[in-house]
Amino acid sequence: MDNKQNADVFDEEMRRKFDLMPGFDKDFQADPTPAFRKTDPHAMDNLTAGGQAGSGAQTAGATSQTGVAEAQAATSQTAGSLPVREKAEKSFGHRDFAAHDLPGYNRGPGIPYAFSNNPRAGQWDARKMSANRIASYKRFVVTDGEGIRNSIYVAGCPFRCQNCWNASIWDFQAGHDFTPAFEQAVIDDLRPSYVEGVTYLGGEPMLNTPVLLKISNHIRQEFGNTKNIWCWTGYTWEELMRPGTTPDKTALLGMCDILIDGRFIEGLKDSRLQFRGSSNQRVIDVKKSLAARREAQEQGLDPNSVAPVIWDKLHDQKRVIAEAYRKDRDAGEGRD
Ligand code: SF4
Repeated sequence: MDNKQNADVFDEEMRRKFDLMPGFDKDFQADPTPAFRKTDPHAMDNLTAGGQAGSGAQTAGATSQTGVAEAQAATSQTAGSLPVREKAEKSFGHRDFAAHDLPGYNRGPGIPYAFSNNPRAGQWDARKMSANRIASYKRFVVTDGEGIRNSIYVAGCPFRCQNCWNASIWDFQAGHDFTPAFEQAVIDDLRPSYVEGVTYLGGEPMLNTPVLLKISNHIRQEFGNTKNIWCWTGYTWEELMRPGTTPDKTALLGMCDILIDGRFIEGLKDSRLQFRGSSNQRVIDVKKSLAARREAQEQGLDPNSVAPVIWDKLHDQKRVIAEAYRKDRDAGEGRD
């Protein structure tokens, strides 16, 4: 049996064992080490050097849709003899599982991305994948959304974006069990009037809905809408709106106020962006976006033709801070 046949048999065994969709790779659950780190640490550089993939996108006004389009195009250019997407699949195991689903469907900015996994609608199901584990919990932080907040990092993420900041918690078994005592601590920590709300990060919140729906319901019972809920997900808004999305994801989305969506795309990385790592990601006002979809539906329009509504307080930096400091210092020292 060759490697491919071995992998297929393994997939099939895992599918039977976990009753998951074909193509699911148990390795996504169990192994926190990115495939590209296990192999050649410079392999990604070699990949992009041949076909200039990524580099063009990095310099091409990363905050614009043009940048996103160029990054998408870059992943289909050639590096050596193979297209980048194929080579990424071969070298790092990233796969576009949804390539043949809903032909022509807009999956959101930058997606499919060659250096992450791209799931079909409903392929990954929290009700089967989540181990109900909390990787980390941080109280009274000011970096994970507006105001002072408490952040819950859930365990497990099968997207495996290149250079993910939190690759150490890709494993669904990372961290500690979710317990009633933890749930109560989250509620108690929200009581101070200066705490604006809670933030869900990971790991992948949409694949830990058994835990997060429980917490969200408890928050709404206890505080109504006086505390807000922010959520970072690797799914794009459009992917969450696809027919076939599991109902728990839709339910969690409905509990959120703000969604930061999309994979981290290295070629679109920009340190000036507020609350995002790369410019394909968006800070979405969930309530307004859902209302816009409902309105379109009432008018007989396709709700998927309506773009999500961006948070109206969004403000990205115009200058890179280190550069700005250097210029200001040079000016102060008469060297401008
Ligand atoms: S979706 Fe987020 S947590 Fe998951 S691999 Fe990508 S960057 Fe990391």
